[in-house]
Amino acid sequence: MHTLDVLVIGAGVSGLACAFDLSRAGRSVVTLERAQQAGGVVGTLEIDGFRFETGPNTVQASSEAFRTLAADLGIADRLVVSSGASSARYLFLEGRLVALPSSIPGFLTTPVLSFGGKLRVATELLRRFKQPAGGVEPTLRAFFTERLGPEAATRLAGAFVRGVYAAELDELGAESAFPRMWRACTEHGGLIKGVFAAQKKKKPVLPGPQCKSSALLSFPNGLRELVDALASASGTNLMLGEEVRTLARDGESWVATTAGGLSLRARDVVLACPAPAAAALLDTAGLPRPCITPLERITHADVTLVHLGFRAVDVPGFPGGFGYLVPPDQVGPEAPRVLGTIFASSLFEGRAPTGGLGVTSFYRSSTATWPDAEIAREAATDLARALRLSSVPTPVVSRVLRWKNVIPRYAPGHMLRMATLESELVRMAPGLHLAGSYAGGVSVEQVIARGRAVAHRLRNGAHSP
Ligand SMILES: Cc1cc2nc3c(=O)[nH]c(=O)nc-3n(C[C@H](O)[C@H](O)[C@H](O)COP(=O)(O)OP(=O)(O)OC[C@H]3O[C@@H](n4cnc5c(N)ncnc54)[C@H](O)[C@@H]3O)c2cc1C
Repeated sequence: MHTLDVLVIGAGVSGLACAFDLSRAGRSVVTLERAQQAGGVVGTLEIDGFRFETGPNTVQASSEAFRTLAADLGIADRLVVSSGASSARYLFLEGRLVALPSSIPGFLTTPVLSFGGKLRVATELLRRFKQPAGGVEPTLRAFFTERLGPEAATRLAGAFVRGVYAAELDELGAESAFPRMWRACTEHGGLIKGVFAAQKKKKPVLPGPQCKSSALLSFPNGLRELVDALASASGTNLMLGEEVRTLARDGESWVATTAGGLSLRARDVVLACPAPAAAALLDTAGLPRPCITPLERITHADVTLVHLGFRAVDVPGFPGGFGYLVPPDQVGPEAPRVLGTIFASSLFEGRAPTGGLGVTSFYRSSTATWPDAEIAREAATDLARALRLSSVPTPVVSRVLRWKNVIPRYAPGHMLRMATLESELVRMAPGLHLAGSYAGGVSVEQVIARGRAVAHRLRNGAHSP
């Protein structure tokens, strides 16, 4: 059997970015993907003139790894910037949408926080941040409550964390979930000081359209364009419909066998599949528990997406903008079950046919067993509630998409456990490498950076981190 330089397991964006760099560097690399299409959670659906994303809708314009990859793929000139109006974001509070403030005067007058809540936020500037005793990583709730007070922690941070991780503040560790924020806070002695310092930092000129770093990016045909470019760069070295079932050490190399009976041998293997799949493969390789348990203990959010397309006339008073989030303190019979809704067709042109508007609502696992029609009705009802419509609009297009075990929760100690695991793998399983959203951050930017960092290490001849 021929020995490849590298086998990548999983053709999400992380695995594809890793394979792209390795093959450009002349390494023999094959990517095996279980699904019949590449991209993992990233993809774009076209339904009757509406365009909806299967996972992420946008990438921050400040995302260096994303823009650099687009440039390396020759598609940076295809990047499009979100419409200026899409910067408006809302919270669902007490039965209506309230715009999030984007300036200091806006903060002073916003009804999002009480007077006491605002005062507590403002005094963060006066309270120097101290690392917790004993080096124990605090949860996001403990961190934000200490810095900003309980009201802002729940209302602002709680809603934001639901938007990024589909998780709650208690479930995530402050340093693991938001390492850059944590670093800025520790370096500058506070959260607000850290934010100001980051704003003052000179921004590098990145490939693609020049715009505010707070703007959002995509491609005219959606983020699928990134996946298509990566997949076509891989050519026949990307094999779809090939689920890796076992991994085994054989001399100096690894042998992977797929459900279809294909066996491939490689000197290095990159695990760019989700953590549960990576854990199962390490188990088949007979590795000891310390190499497997850290991956098994990562819990994930299940997310159900509901794409709805409407005739714009059926949704009077639609505010446009990015969309809204529901903070965790909005409970009770009148509160929507939705975590948040993206106003997809307001973000970029060409996302809805003329006279139409498209939205994507995000639900958690509690609704995962509902039939499609029921959850679509719930999403239309939640939208009507948020926009205070007199009747629930009937969508002209509706599609429900259920992701299981899809967004890893970075619990306190997560990054430390991943670092320890990598050291264990160096000792116990040289040639195995971790990429993917469980290893170095969940955003598109972070999974690309991780995939490319692993490729960089391998290009430089390292067998291990
Ligand atoms: C609904 C949703 C919305 C999001 N929104 C945003 C956003 O707005 N901005 C942002 O930056 N990020 C967002 N994210 C996060 C980001 O999109 C993901 O974290 C990232 O794309 C994950 O990429 P990945 O390559 O690590 O993994 P995945 O995309 O999960 O890909 C892993 C691949 O491995 C394959 N696989 C699994 N097991 C095997 C096996 N045994 N053999 C072969 N293949 C296997 C899977 O089929 C899959 O294709 C969102 C995520 C979701 C789910």
